[in-house]
Amino acid sequence: MEVELQLESHFAKQLEGLYTEWQAAVVPNPKLLLLNEGLATQLGLSVMALRAEGAALLSGQRLASGSRPVAQAYAGHQFGVFNPQLGDGRALLLGEIRDPQGKLWDLHLKGSGRTPFSRGGDGKAALGPMLREYLIGEAMHALGIPSTRALAVVATGEAVQREQPLPGAILARVASSHLRVGTFQFVAVREQDELLRRLANYAIARHYPDLQVLAGGERYLAFVEAVMQRQAKLIAQWMGVGFIHGVMNTDNMSIAGESIDYGPCAFMDAYDPATVFSSIDQNGRYAYGEQPRIGQWNLVRLAESLVPLVDADVDQAIARLTETLQRFPRLYQQAWREIFARKLGITKVNAEDDALMEDFLLLLDDEHADFTLAFRSLAAELQDMATEQRERLGIPAVPESWAAWSERWLARLGNVRPFAAVGVAMDAVNPMYIPRNHQVEIALAAATEANDSRPLEKLLAVLAAPYSARPEYLPYSEPMPGSFGPFRTFCGT
Ligand code: AMP
Ligand code: MG
Repeated sequence: MEVELQLESHFAKQLEGLYTEWQAAVVPNPKLLLLNEGLATQLGLSVMALRAEGAALLSGQRLASGSRPVAQAYAGHQFGVFNPQLGDGRALLLGEIRDPQGKLWDLHLKGSGRTPFSRGGDGKAALGPMLREYLIGEAMHALGIPSTRALAVVATGEAVQREQPLPGAILARVASSHLRVGTFQFVAVREQDELLRRLANYAIARHYPDLQVLAGGERYLAFVEAVMQRQAKLIAQWMGVGFIHGVMNTDNMSIAGESIDYGPCAFMDAYDPATVFSSIDQNGRYAYGEQPRIGQWNLVRLAESLVPLVDADVDQAIARLTETLQRFPRLYQQAWREIFARKLGITKVNAEDDALMEDFLLLLDDEHADFTLAFRSLAAELQDMATEQRERLGIPAVPESWAAWSERWLARLGNVRPFAAVGVAMDAVNPMYIPRNHQVEIALAAATEANDSRPLEKLLAVLAAPYSARPEYLPYSEPMPGSFGPFRTFCGT
C-alpha cells in the first residue's frame, strides 16, 4: 500500500543558508511503537497507510514524495550563554504537510542520527525521553495549550549509550514550524541582512500573514509585537497549569508561540514559585515563577536580532523595539489575570482582582497545597459536592485555613451568578488530571523496561480528557507520594 504522505519543502526552497541537506541514519529494525491517530486524521493522513508504512517513513528510512530533509541551523542562549551555532544535532526537518484546511505543518524527526550540527553528541535519542515528549505534548494539547505534537514514536532496534545502554527511538514531531528565536540569532550574529529579511518574511507569511500588508520597518516591529503577544499568552497558560518548561533557552522558544522541546519539563504539585525540576538548572533560572521574566529576556534577544530590519538608523530601531518590548509585562499580566480569574470563576476581571488571586497563591505557597487540586476543591465547595463523591474523585476538602480568603472570594463572586454554575465553569478550566511526575515515570518504566505500553496508553487516555473527573481515575489525580521524591529531570537525553 502506498502511503498518502506528500510533503512540501518550502523551508528548504526559501531559506537556503539556514540548513544543510541531510539524511537520517540507517537503523537496524524500525518499529512503529506509537501512532497518534487523532493527529494523523487531523492532518489528513491515512491512519491505515501510516500503520503499514510509518515505521520506514517516520524514521527517515524511506523518503515521502516531495521530501527534502534538512538539518536546520540555529544559534541560541543556553542558560544565558550565547552559542552562535547549535542547530539540529539529532533532528531533521523532513518537510511540510499541508492539512485539509491548507495550513502547513512541519514534519520533523528527533533522534535521526548525527548531522553537521551534532558537536559532541551521538545524534540519537533514547526511547524513554521520546515517549515522554509524546505524552507531554498530548497533555498540553488536551489542556488547550499550543504545543508541538508527536505523530509517532518509532523504535530503532539499536541501543543508545547513555549512563547505561538504552533502547533507541525516533520521534516524529509536528509543529506549526520549528523557527526559533535562535534561528534569528543565527542569522543576526553573521550579519546576513538579506537572509534575515527572507527569514522574517517567511516567518510572517507562515505565522502572522496579516502583517504582510505593512511595509518597511513597521512590518518587523509588528512581528516582534505579535510574537510577544503569543508568548505572553503561552507562558500565562503554562503558569495556569503549573507547567515548568525547564530549559527556556532561546533555541527552545518558538516563533509560532507553541510549547516546544519537552526535555526536562515537568508539572508542579505543591505550589511554590521557586520549583525547579531540571538537574542542570542549579540557579533556578527557569523556575516556575521565573518563566515570564525569562520569556521577556528571550524576546529581547529576538528584538536585537531584528534591529537591521526595523530602521537603518540603529538608535532609532533600538528605541522603537524597546518601546514595544516594554509592553510585555503588561501584556503578560493581562493574560495571567484572565487565566487565573477564570480559574477562580471570576468573569469580567479587572486589575483590582489581582490581589485576590495573588493572595490565594500565597496561601497555597504557605501550606504547600497541591496547585492543581486546590482549584477543584474550591469548585467542589461551590457545587456543594457530597463528601463521599469528593473523596471518590480525590478532591481534598477546602481547609479551614482558607476561610478568611474564601469569604473575600465569595463576596467577589456574589455579584455574578449562582455559585453551582460558577463551580461548573471552574471545572471546565481547572484540570483534574495533569501528567503527575510519578505516573509519568511509572508509565515510561513499564514501556522501556518491561516492554509493556499499557500504563502509558492508559495515562494518555486519562490526560486526553483532563477536565472531566472520574472515580476510576483516582490514582492519576494524586500528587506524587513522598516516597518518590525528590523528583529530578535530565537534559540531553
Ligand atoms: P535541547 O537541549 O534538546 O534543546 O538541545 C540543544 C542542542 O543540543 C541542539 O542543538 C540539539 O540538536 C543538540 N543535541 C541534544 N542532544 C543531542 C545528541 N544526542 N546528539 C547531538 N546533538 C544533540
Ligand atoms: Mg532544543
